[in-house]
Amino acid sequence: MRNGSIGIITNIQRFSLDDGPGIRTTVFLKGCSLACRWCHNPETISGKKQIQYLAESCKNCGSCVAACKRGAHQIENGRHAIQWDMCTGKFDCTGACFYGALSVIGREITVEALCEQLIRDEAFYDHSEGGVTLSGGEPLLQSDFCAAVLRRLKELNIHTALDTAGNVPWVKFETLLPWVDLVLFDIKIIDPDLHRKMTGGNNHLILENFERLCRENVAIRVRTPIIEGVNDGETETDRRTDVLIKAENIQKTELLPYHSYGVGKYAALGMSEKTPAFKTPSPEKMQAIASRMRNRGVANVVV
Ligand code: SF4
Ligand code: SF4
Repeated sequence: MRNGSIGIITNIQRFSLDDGPGIRTTVFLKGCSLACRWCHNPETISGKKQIQYLAESCKNCGSCVAACKRGAHQIENGRHAIQWDMCTGKFDCTGACFYGALSVIGREITVEALCEQLIRDEAFYDHSEGGVTLSGGEPLLQSDFCAAVLRRLKELNIHTALDTAGNVPWVKFETLLPWVDLVLFDIKIIDPDLHRKMTGGNNHLILENFERLCRENVAIRVRTPIIEGVNDGETETDRRTDVLIKAENIQKTELLPYHSYGVGKYAALGMSEKTPAFKTPSPEKMQAIASRMRNRGVANVVV
């Protein structure tokens, strides 16, 4: 069982330029309380470790068939096939695959081990006014672990950012906020029914947390993924504007066009049926949305 001294992460991305000011190291934590249909990090949605299978690396050798006691792997007509619902997460197969086709996504890490890695890039942070961003997934689902990491970083005067979708009880924010310099807060969809349909979660708590966060002494950047045919229309744009013009402490609002970089990950995780099929909005569309928000009084909208 994990406690606050051990977290589960998928990746540590160094030299990131998109997750706050300067050069940053971004830590992707595993587990999310939403399941957005466009998510480009589907490996972070489950809070548990899981198998990744890269079909293009598979040599159909059959070693995994012998290793898996549950019979999740088969060789059919000389070709490897995996039955995802048979996998119980023991991962005997990954060690048997010598071609890198099977791997485990998610690893446990202690606060000390993570901080030791993050601190290695301190010189880059200092030079660029950058720092560390905790992202995911939803980092606030591991709030005790994150608080311990952030506290250690603040002791070393490293700038810290939290990237959150906000769908957690407020007490989780309270655990972390003393150690956070900047919150990157996702406002995805304002229409409650559309939000539920597209993310699997209610937005009531998210919007309530956003309002509360705006009254705290912390810098905020709002991030909105723009998904063509979902939240790029005038009604959603105006409802989002209504929320943002009342908000204080907002440094800027970033509109992020949907991109399809994560699409290939779905099949590799046994989630083919959930593969997103959205289009990227055109640059003109993005500018039109930004202009509409600016014209109605939202400051610092950037695309
Ligand atoms: S909140 Fe982020 S990580 Fe979670 S499902 Fe949505 S896009 Fe993916
Ligand atoms: S062990 Fe790896 S390479 Fe061999 S069949 Fe299984 S997945 Fe393919």
